[in-house]
Amino acid sequence: MIESGTMEIQAAVARKAHGDFTVETVKLADLAPDEVLVRMVATGVCHTDLSVVEGILPLPLPLVPGHEGAGVIERVGADVRGLAPGDPVVLTFSSCGECPSCTDNHPAYCDHYAALNFATRRPDGSATLSDASGHALGGVFFSQSSFATYAIATPKNIVKVRADAPLALLGPLGCGLSTGAGTVFNVLKPTPDTTLAVVGAGALGMAAIMAAKILGVRRIVALDRVASRLDLARELGASDTIDTLAQDPAEALAALGGIDQAIDTSGVPRLIEAAVGALRTRGTCVLLGASAQTDLHLNVMQMIGGKSVRGVVNGDCEPGELIPKLIDLHMEGRFPMERLVDYYPLRDINRAVADSRSGRVIKPIVTFE
Ligand SMILES: [Zn+2]
Ligand SMILES: [Zn+2]
Repeated sequence: MIESGTMEIQAAVARKAHGDFTVETVKLADLAPDEVLVRMVATGVCHTDLSVVEGILPLPLPLVPGHEGAGVIERVGADVRGLAPGDPVVLTFSSCGECPSCTDNHPAYCDHYAALNFATRRPDGSATLSDASGHALGGVFFSQSSFATYAIATPKNIVKVRADAPLALLGPLGCGLSTGAGTVFNVLKPTPDTTLAVVGAGALGMAAIMAAKILGVRRIVALDRVASRLDLARELGASDTIDTLAQDPAEALAALGGIDQAIDTSGVPRLIEAAVGALRTRGTCVLLGASAQTDLHLNVMQMIGGKSVRGVVNGDCEPGELIPKLIDLHMEGRFPMERLVDYYPLRDINRAVADSRSGRVIKPIVTFE
């Protein structure tokens, strides 16, 4: 239960597995000394939010998801330094800052990643949210639970951003877009001569395509089953496209002469296996997408040729470096993320989810004004 000093906010609550969100008036706890209260302007909808509802990410419900928040700092706790009311910020994943991965500049692999981002309670076990009947709700999702008009975050998952950037657009940089772009910039580092396949032209895939174009990669192959997404992928930098419903992906990749690198955002074993099968010697396939299907079949003899299959979390990025860099690129017109988004007021969040699932919108953004 929440103690005194709470404020009433509006939030989208996931109450039942496979159910709709309910938009409710809920109570947000008072700030702890190391926390920051953020008035949310907009929050992107990511598949990880939907994974909670779908049971792929099995967290206890009811819960307020949301982990691509953008907003303005309203208040800072007594122990917080370097952040102030009025600062425009993007919220991202949380990390401890002290474990071996964090001190080695790989905070996405923080030893405490699950505890900090999926605990649904504060580290001391207290709840940050309660419903109208006084029952505690799961909060602290990615240290934010930002499907709400206000969110409690911590300095570790807050990135201050330039004031002239369009704040309502920026939330998806906190997860999906930094995951796709970070995988290209930080992990695969393709050269202009690299042939890169991107499986799934959703938000992660489009961010990867835009990042690869920034690096001058000439052959970028986009694979998807939605024709309009393949058209947009071409506009954003793909040189070739494969319609995975109309064409056999393995044959189509072979017809292109194979690939050096692949980024899978689909989580679909059939597509991952096609991408791995198309890898040239020393090629790498990176797995970003989760799905209910988790088992892969790999051919040992094919893999021995120096090939790698690896997973990547959050683009292996330092959010404090990558997010401002992507905003600068956006402001220069080189990372046109506005092409991916549609805006939905909070009361229409279920329509945003439905449009995301159907493929009608690539990156829905929920707004709070
Ligand atoms: Zn850590
Ligand atoms: Zn996400």
